[in-house]
Amino acid sequence: MKLTDAVTRLKGVGPKMAEKLARLGIATMEDLLNFYPRRYQDWTKITPMEELTFDEEAAVYGEVVDVKEARPRPRMSILTAVLTDGTGAVNLVYFNQPWKRDEFARGQHILAYGRAEYQYRKIQMSNADTEAVEPAELADFQKLVPVYPLTEGLKLSRMQELIRQALAQAEDLAENLPARVLRKERLMGRREALAAIHFPKSWAEQKAARRRLAFEELFFMQAGIALLRKKRQQGMAGIKCAPSGQLVADALQRLPFTLTEDQRRAFADIEDDMEGLVPMQRLVQGDVGSGKTAVAALAVAKMTENGYQSALMVPTEVLAQQHFRTLTGFYGGLPIRTALLTGTTKAAERRQILEDLAAGAIDLLIGTHALLEDDVVFARLGLVITDEQHRFGVKQREALETKGEAPHTLIMTATPIPRTMALSVYGDLDVSAIRGMPPGRHPVKTYAVGRDLLQRVYRFMEREMDAGHQVYVVCPLVAESEKQDLAAAEKVYRELSEKEFPRHRCGMVHGRMKEKDKEQVMEDFCTGRVQLLVATSVIEVGVNVPNATIMFVYGADRFGLSQLHQLRGRVGRGSAQSYCILYTDSTSDTARVRMELMTQIQDGFLLAEKDLLLRGSGEFFGYHQHGMPDLRAADILRDLPLLEEARRAARREVAAGLDCREELARRFGGKFFERIYH
Ligand code: ADP
Ligand code: MG
Repeated sequence: MKLTDAVTRLKGVGPKMAEKLARLGIATMEDLLNFYPRRYQDWTKITPMEELTFDEEAAVYGEVVDVKEARPRPRMSILTAVLTDGTGAVNLVYFNQPWKRDEFARGQHILAYGRAEYQYRKIQMSNADTEAVEPAELADFQKLVPVYPLTEGLKLSRMQELIRQALAQAEDLAENLPARVLRKERLMGRREALAAIHFPKSWAEQKAARRRLAFEELFFMQAGIALLRKKRQQGMAGIKCAPSGQLVADALQRLPFTLTEDQRRAFADIEDDMEGLVPMQRLVQGDVGSGKTAVAALAVAKMTENGYQSALMVPTEVLAQQHFRTLTGFYGGLPIRTALLTGTTKAAERRQILEDLAAGAIDLLIGTHALLEDDVVFARLGLVITDEQHRFGVKQREALETKGEAPHTLIMTATPIPRTMALSVYGDLDVSAIRGMPPGRHPVKTYAVGRDLLQRVYRFMEREMDAGHQVYVVCPLVAESEKQDLAAAEKVYRELSEKEFPRHRCGMVHGRMKEKDKEQVMEDFCTGRVQLLVATSVIEVGVNVPNATIMFVYGADRFGLSQLHQLRGRVGRGSAQSYCILYTDSTSDTARVRMELMTQIQDGFLLAEKDLLLRGSGEFFGYHQHGMPDLRAADILRDLPLLEEARRAARREVAAGLDCREELARRFGGKFFERIYH
């Protein structure tokens, strides 16, 4: 039988059974073989009865000394078989399974597996699995028994039997990893590994099998990424830029600061890429406040110098405006013609911008998703920058790239991407990391507070404002509807502006406001006219007001760690000591752990890793959204070392000509595959 054959070809699998299997996502032989056990019953270790630990599963072996059935009520049967092994006794108890009586006879030896309980001063196992085994045959039965996640009406023993059949009958289980890789990584063969993951003889064998299957998954994922990379590098000639000249030097000189070492290195990487033959695909990864904008500004200057246009796409209107202000500020007087295009740009202005853009009279276009519209046409687009990349999907970035011919691509993200993610989702990108912060920064002091400290916090905010600093107050998204959230935020605003801080100038910004009003409030906050800004999480990404020193977050338990870190990153951007105050009423475990991690950890990378661990690897951010495949044997969090090995091997093999087209198509199908071959 072939791996692609339907399970209905197996003996005893009719439409009914097929339907049950379908509920588990099993349609083909391959699906069945890849349906790995969730755990194993350990029959390898027989526990002496006197050493049983209550509430734990164990295997015991003994002789039946008594069998009795009680029928306390007409339709009720309680069967008890008493086993002894010389150290103690265990009662095997079965409710309403009178037929079991025939399975036990005095003097017989029984191997039983179940959960030990203490009942009526006896050790008991309810519904234990049993085998009648004479001492001479015992070794044959000492194995690990697979346990699968099942669905109604599908018994474990039936599932085990189906998988046995599939293993015996699958013909095309040829080795799919290159022999060299197998040898070098000392991996188990494919057929052997599949048999051993389902029916391992020992834990060592189970481990080796899992390692092999996890490696295989990661290897093909990485091979796909390596092929993607290869195609990119072969298929297109990039825009080969000249070594940086006067305009770049001027831009560098106009920055109001000198670049940090990491910023310099990131820009040097970018220069190398842009001067090369292959289009740049670079991720600039830097913690919030590390100064990525300046690096992007220099890349734009370089592109302009070479006669091409640049596009900078950001996720929010507020951020687009801020970038427009910042960059036009940096470029003051330089011949880098910059325009802003968002969803709220007036029709007449938009028409003019599009006209200029198509005529090549704009060098840099900054904007939101509005840049993706069909009628936004560039004369010569050479550089595409996306900021806060984690807010976009790969598709959106690619949509912008198609507006040019093999443009250079720069991706900036402030949400730190853990190494596992960088190697998988972003595996086809080169990475520059900005780790150090600009000089003179103090770590943001972080506190978690409850209601009892609220008044003290308010008085502290007052003192900071009186000292000339500014304050953010972030309201959580509490309700189901935006409307209710808004009402909650308005209540906070009224309370703060009227009751707590009547002397200070308070402002409010939220997602439902007209863009014009939002813009006005943000500008007032930037210029210091507003001292205290009440906001919903619209200010989460990118906003830069160095004079703000307090970030106060209401309902902090409702935000994820990465989000809280982003919020915290809004302060500590100047030279004054800044504070992040997390307010929560919640006493739940998650809330407690999150608050603890936030107060103890400043490093965004570390927090992101913790965040992943807390949330589990199943839904780490955007993994599936990026078209990445499901993993069955591998765990992207725990298997980082294996992932690194698989990546090295895959890169080497692809460079040596490996073309695993069929394997990739079968495994990943859809989107991931299309990106590689079409
Ligand atoms: P992010 O990486 O979060 O996008 P920004 O680019 O907004 O950070 O920069 C954060 C702040 O740091 C800004 O106020 C910026 O002017 C300032 N900054 C950036 N680079 C430097 C530097 N080398 N020296 C001093 N300040 C800097
Ligand atoms: Mg930024």
